[in-house]
Amino acid sequence: MIRTRALSGGVHLDDRKISSGKPVEFAGIPPEIVLFMSQHTGAPAKPVVKAGDHVLAGQVVGEAQSFVSASVHASTSGTVKAVEDRYHPILAKPSTAVVIEPDGKGEIWEGVAPGSDDISTLSPEDIIKIARNAGLVGLGGAAFPTAVKLSPPKDKPIDVYLLNGAECEPYLTCDARLMVEEADEIVFGFTAMMKAVGAPRGIVCIEDNKPEAIMAMEKAISGKPGIELCVLKTRYPQGGEKQLIQVVLGREVPPPPGLPFDVGVVVSNVGTAYSLAKALRTGMPLVDRVVTVTGAVGSPSNFRVLLGTQVSFLIEKAGGYTGEPGKVIMGGPMMGVSLPRTDVPVLKGTTGIVVMTKDEVNLDKPLPCIRCGRCVDSCPLRLLPVWIAAYSDRGMYEEAEKYRALDCCECGVCAYRCPSRRPLVQSVRLAKQAIMEERRARAQKVSG
Ligand code: SF4
Ligand code: SF4
Repeated sequence: MIRTRALSGGVHLDDRKISSGKPVEFAGIPPEIVLFMSQHTGAPAKPVVKAGDHVLAGQVVGEAQSFVSASVHASTSGTVKAVEDRYHPILAKPSTAVVIEPDGKGEIWEGVAPGSDDISTLSPEDIIKIARNAGLVGLGGAAFPTAVKLSPPKDKPIDVYLLNGAECEPYLTCDARLMVEEADEIVFGFTAMMKAVGAPRGIVCIEDNKPEAIMAMEKAISGKPGIELCVLKTRYPQGGEKQLIQVVLGREVPPPPGLPFDVGVVVSNVGTAYSLAKALRTGMPLVDRVVTVTGAVGSPSNFRVLLGTQVSFLIEKAGGYTGEPGKVIMGGPMMGVSLPRTDVPVLKGTTGIVVMTKDEVNLDKPLPCIRCGRCVDSCPLRLLPVWIAAYSDRGMYEEAEKYRALDCCECGVCAYRCPSRRPLVQSVRLAKQAIMEERRARAQKVSG
């Protein structure tokens, strides 16, 4: 049994996982599919289709443009209506997208070649290539290209691979349902991930508020050499990469640009392992994912969703709004993004859609800081959010940088604990953007 450490800071949240008992069902083919070329960390993909082209499910519509990038594939068959700018829900500005009008047939592209059920016949390079060709990214929200994650630098040997099934955000149940329903497939994908990075030890990490998922995964790993289960006490934000490594292994990832590689660890989400398994076995690239649609909707659900499906379509599928919506969030309520409109598509990193009623959304104005120190006590990265925010609000970004603004993982715990409702995350985020812009400008000056 693994002896876990206490999470530094963090908070215990009412988990509100009201859709946890809902089996995953297919949301259906929507009337329009919008595939952004930028739905991952790194360089956007380049469109390789044009208006009028007929495309099939699994066909490449956007090609990865660099090492840190990911290709984008048609999620169903149909006709390309346009390649144009659409409002991007995460970037909050127009961005290039391939827009498809589905033909309802869901025909699969002939380039989707059958894969292999036998990982022993695949080399680490084969597995990485399959992940790259599948356009696979981390499905826990960060959307970091999986092929890059599976390629640690040669001088950084990996001794442990953590499979992240913590799903510590309230409301979200997509990972838990996937573990209940597809445990064997997840373990198949995880075994391939371990082989790709040469990790002799794998640990499946799940919080103790998911008993069904724990049982399913325990059964699936039984008899699998090198794979263990670690059940964690439920606490937010334990599912963050750095926090998981600290709690499970007692290792501290160095501040940015430090990475889990630096402490011999790779972390991937259970949904990513499942999608890799699918790509390995069937050759099908990443064209769909499980999304929780929950909160103030008629029937909170877990859907298998074709990438590019609009949020409004999913809310309808989940029974529509109950009451007057106050906020629609893409992702979980702590780290998700509040959507100004719902005619935006599901991206590779979309874990959930959470609808909050007007009553649930606190619209009260922030009050002055009372120096209570709660934000400091609860920050899992041991930052001083009150100071970073104060410097950021005054445009003193150099000072904010000295207070390690760039280390912030934007978990939102500080703002959640603040009795004065200070918008701390917004202020820290602003400082991070300003610091990065300043660094880019400095680098350009040097290279120019
Ligand atoms: S400062 Fe950043 S890391 Fe710390 S609690 Fe706030 S959002 Fe989380
Ligand atoms: S929690 Fe809010 S009120 Fe308390 S010190 Fe931090 S910013 Fe100030």
